[in-house]
Amino acid sequence: MHIHVLGAAAGGGFPQWNCNCFNCDGLRKGTIKATKRTQSSICVSGDGVNWVLFNASPDVLQQIQDFAPLQPGRAIRDSGIQAIILIDAQIDHTTGLFMLREGKVKREIYCTDMVYEDLTSGNQILNILGHYCGINRHDVPIDGNTSFEIPNVPNLRFTAVALKSAAPPYSPHRNDPHPGDTIGVLIEEISTGKKCWYSPGLGEIEPHLPPLMSQADCIMVDGTFWTNTEMIDMGLMTKTARSIGHNPQSGEGGMIEKLNEFGDVRKVLIHINNTNPILREDSAERAILDTHKIEVAYDGMDIIL
Ligand SMILES: [Zn+2]
Ligand SMILES: [Zn+2]
Repeated sequence: MHIHVLGAAAGGGFPQWNCNCFNCDGLRKGTIKATKRTQSSICVSGDGVNWVLFNASPDVLQQIQDFAPLQPGRAIRDSGIQAIILIDAQIDHTTGLFMLREGKVKREIYCTDMVYEDLTSGNQILNILGHYCGINRHDVPIDGNTSFEIPNVPNLRFTAVALKSAAPPYSPHRNDPHPGDTIGVLIEEISTGKKCWYSPGLGEIEPHLPPLMSQADCIMVDGTFWTNTEMIDMGLMTKTARSIGHNPQSGEGGMIEKLNEFGDVRKVLIHINNTNPILREDSAERAILDTHKIEVAYDGMDIIL
């Protein structure tokens, strides 16, 4: 299985256009040891030719330009992206769909009922695409037992499960969480049995998750914040990390502690907010991750399982 990180940053990217936090300012000025990152998305293939895109970030056009296999060039109009799985309906995970509107072949969109509802009501993006390429929407089962395959993406199998989270700010049910607002996905390469767990938004590792996550050879999880009060401490937000669906890395019950329970498999943090000190390669926080063998995803990172 080939996993390619198209973008490793959380919403806003790194640096964020209007942000002058220590990281964003330092990256612009070249005074910190860090590299820029686009908004989070990965693509996965089981044959190196046909790819499934996880989320469509606002940066998707740049991400496609930076990864040649997504443009195989077999016809006058062509793409290696055969299907798109949406893990939630957030702006930074769906806006790229507008950029993928060209062509006569319908986009194959895999999402839960809750995400489909948000993307045809509070945010009309899937309806609007109907006036361009059009879409084929496929339901994603979230019971954790029912796997599905995607016809044009051979050799991969997907098992999704609902995660504790909230719908996007624009959602008609913003304050009324439903199963399926956010999912995590276990991706399996059928020929090799290799598996990757992907959940860029993960507020809490609830008891139904370890049975799936522990099957994975690589665990890619939410790396948004270092502390639960990161945004409060910087005066940027009044909410804690956990309250907006992101388990922080540090502290009791944090992601480092939780990831340590999964033994000697590859562990990668993705969806990293621009405020997070782990973006600075020489930071004390990054050194702590190193001691726990937890990697920090970057744009262009390839993971071959
Ligand atoms: Zn996001
Ligand atoms: Zn910033």
